[in-house]
Amino acid sequence: MPALEDRFGTMVFSDAEQRRYLPSDIYKRLSATIEEGEPLDLDVANAVAHAMKTWAIERGATHYAHWFQPLSCITSEKHEAFLEPKGDGTAITKFSGKELIQGEPDASSFPTGGLRATFEARGYTAWDPTSPAFIKDEVLCIPTAFCSYTGEALDKKTPLLRSMKALDTQAKRVLGFFGKHPERVVPSVGNEQEYFLIREEDYARRPDLILTGRTLFGAPPCKGQELEEHYFGAIRPTVNEFMKELDDELWALGIPAKTKHNEVAPAQHELAPVFTNANRAVDENLITMEEMRLIASRHGLVCLQHEKPFEGINGSGKHNNWSLATEDANLLDPGETPEENLQFLVFLAAVIAAVDEYQDVLRASVATCGNDHRLGANEAPPAIISIFLGDLLTECVQKIVDGKASVHAAHGVLDLGADVLPKLQQDNSDRNRTSPFAFTGNKFEFRMPGSAVNVSDANMVLDTAVALELKRFADALEGVGADEFAERALDYVRESLTMHQRILFGGNGYSEEWHEEAERRGLANLPTTADALPAFVTERSIALFDEMGVLSEVEVRSRYEVKLEKYAKRMNIEARTMERMARRTYLPRISAYATKIAKGIDTVMGAGGVSTLNFERDLLERLLEGVTVINEAILELTVVHNKALETEGWQEKADVYAHEVVPAMERLRASVDAMEDVVAADYWPVPTYDDILFYV
Ligand code: ADP
Ligand code: MG
Repeated sequence: MPALEDRFGTMVFSDAEQRRYLPSDIYKRLSATIEEGEPLDLDVANAVAHAMKTWAIERGATHYAHWFQPLSCITSEKHEAFLEPKGDGTAITKFSGKELIQGEPDASSFPTGGLRATFEARGYTAWDPTSPAFIKDEVLCIPTAFCSYTGEALDKKTPLLRSMKALDTQAKRVLGFFGKHPERVVPSVGNEQEYFLIREEDYARRPDLILTGRTLFGAPPCKGQELEEHYFGAIRPTVNEFMKELDDELWALGIPAKTKHNEVAPAQHELAPVFTNANRAVDENLITMEEMRLIASRHGLVCLQHEKPFEGINGSGKHNNWSLATEDANLLDPGETPEENLQFLVFLAAVIAAVDEYQDVLRASVATCGNDHRLGANEAPPAIISIFLGDLLTECVQKIVDGKASVHAAHGVLDLGADVLPKLQQDNSDRNRTSPFAFTGNKFEFRMPGSAVNVSDANMVLDTAVALELKRFADALEGVGADEFAERALDYVRESLTMHQRILFGGNGYSEEWHEEAERRGLANLPTTADALPAFVTERSIALFDEMGVLSEVEVRSRYEVKLEKYAKRMNIEARTMERMARRTYLPRISAYATKIAKGIDTVMGAGGVSTLNFERDLLERLLEGVTVINEAILELTVVHNKALETEGWQEKADVYAHEVVPAMERLRASVDAMEDVVAADYWPVPTYDDILFYV
């Protein structure tokens, strides 16, 4: 086996491979495109395509595909063979610059929201040279953006790239005041991916898991996570084999899978890679999720990426670790000297202002039907956004707000009265797990995104909002003389922190008091997707995306539409699956068991038994009562479900699902789950939580 380090990146057309396979002038021009966004000439593209093809075929590739992220949230690819017949019975291989740069998938089958009506249905994919091509299962995958013919973004990558550009521009303006002129500033992102692994045979017997990704029924297991033995526990051999293969595949794909461990819930695990720029991080995360599903199937397992596959058991998140990086510095690192402190605080204040001002949009960016079951479930952050800073930084912010910080007259640096900030670096251990947006030493960790989501949206919103706050700072400080700068910057930070202080919260985010307190502070509490999504299309949100050149109003509206539609459609599938399973899977078995008990009573009595058969008679009563309650619950669900189906307008439909259908689903679930404890195990039609969550 090759040395460990040689197993990394073998399937990626990385910078090193580009250098090896491209003539040096072409390599330089491609680098200029990647680094500085210079347009790519067709002759360069042709040369790159040729080198890519050679490289890929040498590694067993037979096809190429533009790999993109339509609004449906999954990745898409259409495979094209490199082979081209010559007409004489033989073939050559071909891959042109044009084919590399642009593809034309039929856009009409992808969600476009309102854009479908407004614009031509045709779309095209455009190569994103900043994320390297890779070979997956003999296909050369080329990361691309996906747009309509008139240029509107139809995907998740385009706005993310635009937001990164906005952030780069504004962050560099701010750094300029501090006499720093880096080549670029990029948001750095590391996503911790949580997931469940269960046995294929259990999965195959659960229509709810197959159709909706989560269990719509299931009583709590006898043993849950209360023994706290799973987190970081020894990894069972089956899972370990899966993890080893996953690491190998990810490393080959140049994805630096770093940390793996068991999570809190039984059968739950986590994988974290080393962070990289936001664009690449999102691509890597999507590839990771796909590889997880694929590799699980080779081990007789199924990888559940739903945010809440099991009720009463911890759900899965995708913690989005986020910071800002130049070539050589992390801008959210407090630094070791007072000279660095002011700059750190300017960036910190911008993040705080961004998260406060656009908390609802950020919340909306992670709103999905699956995440609704997780947020606020007392093991995941609440649906209210707040920021946790840790004791030292909170103290420091308080000092600034109280006017106790000043600019040192002689040195022009920030004086906080004590050596507070340098100590911050050691303050990493101070963790508040209940906070949705926590400062963890030199980065923020946004914990709201669910495990299934494409975190592109969340990062796009965050980048855009922070870019706007940095722009405001830069606009305000433009033209201020060097001698005055530090003082004026501190004033700006003080005003900003004072205005946005309400978003800071260090207490228990799960508690009831916090909900009340948050309401007093005027923070948004948007418990469901239907409540959260309208935040995208407020005037404030539209103005944000417009000002920063990230999304036009039609693009924002189309995204809102797509998300709403998706929510309503998924809810429809869930409601329908529930009704059908209750009627066709559970009721017949419960009735069959009741009949067996009834027959048993008859038989025993007929044989002249003298017992009162109290147990059997009680049981029979409970079963019959259970059947009645389930039947009523099905009827109730059907009524509200039909109402949702008949309601006009996607928002109105979504509201009915969130506020009427979901409660009816919960009642039906409870009625069926109550019978799980009563019906004999061999009559129960599906694997239970005990069966699914605890396996060898
Ligand atoms: P935790 O204790 O929360 O698991 P880790 O230090 O293991 O924290 O980091 C979790 C994730 O954060 C990893 O993916 C890591 O690469 C990422 N990360 C670390 N530093 C940064 C940074 N500056 N910007 C973005 N992500 C980062
Ligand atoms: Mg973490």
